Amino acid sequence: MNNFNQENYIKILKKFKKLKYDFVDYSNFKKKRNQIILRHDIDYSPSAALKIAKIDYKLKIKSYFFFLIKNKYYNIREEKNLKTLSEIKKLGHEIGLHFNNSSNFDYKNKKKFHKEIKILEKILGKKVNVFSFHKPGKYIKIPTKNTIFYKTNAYGKKYFKDCLYISDSTGRWRYGHPLENMKIIKKKKSLQLLMHPIWWHTHRIYREDQTYKILLNFKKNYE
Ligand SMILES: [Zn+2]
Repeated sequence: MNNFNQENYIKILKKFKKLKYDFVDYSNFKKKRNQIILRHDIDYSPSAALKIAKIDYKLKIKSYFFFLIKNKYYNIREEKNLKTLSEIKKLGHEIGLHFNNSSNFDYKNKKKFHKEIKILEKILGKKVNVFSFHKPGKYIKIPTKNTIFYKTNAYGKKYFKDCLYISDSTGRWRYGHPLENMKIIKKKKSLQLLMHPIWWHTHRIYREDQTYKILLNFKKNYE
């Protein structure tokens, strides 16, 4: 289960179900045990996100997809991405803003933040209640207030410090593989699990030390 590909993605989620974890919303994440929030940050490819959204749907899991408005690799307002967003929404998943705080996050960011929330709300035709920071910690300490500018912060203490937090950022399990973690397998501690679709969407098998190849292949089209 240590390699990165679609098959293992499915295996990991099935295992959480077998361990009797409930996949829940940020809003009803309350219990100390047996709850999991499945989060996907989209840094590169909306089409990889859609593949993962379909898998989650088939597994009867509602998950969260956080999109940037625009970066080097995609613009959410492009026609094909609008279609992707609408499909993910139709599958019953929740969409949030992936906010790029390229400078210190303080009240000066409020305008940019609201502007981006509004763009996303207009596209989705509904309120956006939750967001995650893109590359938090790169420029600043991660703001861990549970709510910022009236929106749920995925890095809020409640979802980041008071429970387990497991992430595959940069294509490796920085806090260890979730299913080798005794706090999960034995104690069933509640957690937020961040899985980036880019690492999991293909059928090809990549070891943890090979995931950089996925990015190299992806980036070839942009550079
Ligand atoms: Zn990101």
